Amino acid sequence: MLAPNEIAQRLREVRDRIAQAASRSARSPDEVRLILASKTQPAQAIRAAYRAGARDFGENYIQEAASKRAELVDLSDATWHLIGHLQSNKTKLAMRTFDIIQTLDSVRLADAIARVHPSPPMRVLIEVNLGGEESKSGVAAREVESLIEAARAKVEILGLMTIPPPSQNALAARKYFAELRALRDRLAARSGLALSELSMGMTEEFEVAIEEGATMVRVGRAVFGERPK
Ligand SMILES: *Cc1c(COP(=O)(O)O)cnc(C)c1O
Repeated sequence: MLAPNEIAQRLREVRDRIAQAASRSARSPDEVRLILASKTQPAQAIRAAYRAGARDFGENYIQEAASKRAELVDLSDATWHLIGHLQSNKTKLAMRTFDIIQTLDSVRLADAIARVHPSPPMRVLIEVNLGGEESKSGVAAREVESLIEAARAKVEILGLMTIPPPSQNALAARKYFAELRALRDRLAARSGLALSELSMGMTEEFEVAIEEGATMVRVGRAVFGERPK
C-alpha cells in the first residue's frame, strides 16, 4: 500500500479536482460525496484515508468488507457502501456490514434485504446497466420503474448508480452519465420519490460525472494507487 502521507496527499488532490469540476458546472462541492473504493486495499490504507478526512468507503466483497470493518470498528462515524454485486444468500452478513447498498438489482434481493432489515428500511441505490452488457449486474433502464414500484415499500430508494461500459474516451462516458441523470429525472417525476442520489464516475472519469450531476463518485486508484493483486 502507499504510505499514509501519500494517501493523504492524493486525497487532497482528488478533493481539489472535485471542487473544480463542481464549480465548472455551477455546483457546490458539498453536493458531491466522495466514496473511496477500497476493495483489496488493506485496513491500514482505509485508516490513513480516514485520518485525512475521508468518511465514506465502498467495498465490493461482503466477506472482505466484514473483516476490514471489524478491524476498523473505532472509525464509528464512517459510512460503508456496498458497490459490488449482492447475492441474496449473503444478505445477512451484508446488512451487518454496510450502511448503504448501491447495487439493488432485483425484487428478490429487495425482499431478502427487507426480511433481515425491516425497519428502518435499508437505504439502497438501484444499479442500472446502461450498456446492456450481459456480463454486468444491474437492471436494464426499461426495468427500473417496475423495480422501484415493487421495492419502494421494502427499502428506502435513494437514487441510481451505474458503472458505464469501459470506454476509450470521456465523451462516451459522458453520454451514459447524462442518460442516468435523465432516467432519474423521469422516474422521480413518475414515482414521486426524490431519487436524489446519482452514484457515477470512477478514477478515469469522475470529473465528467460531476459535470453531469453525480452526487456520489466512487474513486479507488486515484487515492490508493494501483490495487494489490
Ligand atoms: C473498483 C470500483 C470503483 C473504483 O474504481 P477506480 O478505477 O479504482 O477508481 C468504482 N466503482 C465500483 C463499482 C468499483 O468496483
